[in-house]
Amino acid sequence: MIEPAAWINADLHCHSCISDGTLEPEELAARAKANGVELWALTDHDEIGGQHRARDAALACGLPFLTGTEISVTFAGVTVHIVGLGFTIDDPALETGLAATRGGRTERAHVMADGLARVGIKGAFEGALTYAGNPELIARTHFARFLVETGVCASTNEVFRKYLVAGKPGYVPHQWASLGDAVQWITKAGGIAVIAHPGRYKFTPTEEYALFTEFKAHGGRGVEVVTGSHSSADAAKYTETALEFDLLASRGSDFHSPEESRIDLGTLPALSARLTPVWDALVDRVHRPS
Ligand code: AMP
Ligand code: MN
Ligand code: MN
Ligand code: MN
Repeated sequence: MIEPAAWINADLHCHSCISDGTLEPEELAARAKANGVELWALTDHDEIGGQHRARDAALACGLPFLTGTEISVTFAGVTVHIVGLGFTIDDPALETGLAATRGGRTERAHVMADGLARVGIKGAFEGALTYAGNPELIARTHFARFLVETGVCASTNEVFRKYLVAGKPGYVPHQWASLGDAVQWITKAGGIAVIAHPGRYKFTPTEEYALFTEFKAHGGRGVEVVTGSHSSADAAKYTETALEFDLLASRGSDFHSPEESRIDLGTLPALSARLTPVWDALVDRVHRPS
């Protein structure tokens, strides 16, 4: 891959224990810095409660910072993630939208636990909760950690495959935010909306075209091309998609945990030099060390 002249090691997607990561925001900032990251964003699911801590820790160790979040959206019956970058840190409308989005998680988690109890796995709600740093953000990831810890499965991947995806006993369909709302919350807060890891959705080409078209119509401007969830073939495919739809390109590890994540902070391949990086459009939104 050709490295662009203005190449920087940006990592604009990861999770702390305020959503479903295992590290504190301060630990992530230090890890990003140690791994050579030059521009960093913390993108907790449906939550911006860690942004002040992340920014303060990043700036204290000399690491430029962009605000971030990853919003859960339901599009064509499928869960799609929209990353927001560079919004105003305490935007009230964004905070209200995120609070509504995460609001149904506790009830969903109880229904997930009921499904698991029916196949003989008891106490999964309470068990998962012990892994959730933020109870409002109880996620499938926390159930996966509990099922590994109690020996039901050997890895979180195995838990997802056997218990937590559509058709499996712990799966509960859920209605998240609408695409238009998520994009507008981010945009009105001064940020840029980015389609996260498009290679992960099982869309037909027609559905995927609809996602990109509607996303742009709502004011979305970016797509993750290089992410921990993409193969090199996915990155090549979405390089072409970014060019076709005239979208800014983002890069982020989606790091969750030193034990679980395949890709560490700051260790991804570069974006193709044919792309315009999303950070080129966010220069004025970067929090810089003094
Ligand atoms: P939720 O928002 O509760 O539906 O949980 C979604 C989270 O589960 C994602 O953000 C990932 O961190 C994690 N996840 C999804 N699929 C898998 C998988 N196959 N293996 C491990 N973690 C996964
Ligand atoms: Mn996650
Ligand atoms: Mn995601
Ligand atoms: Mn993520």
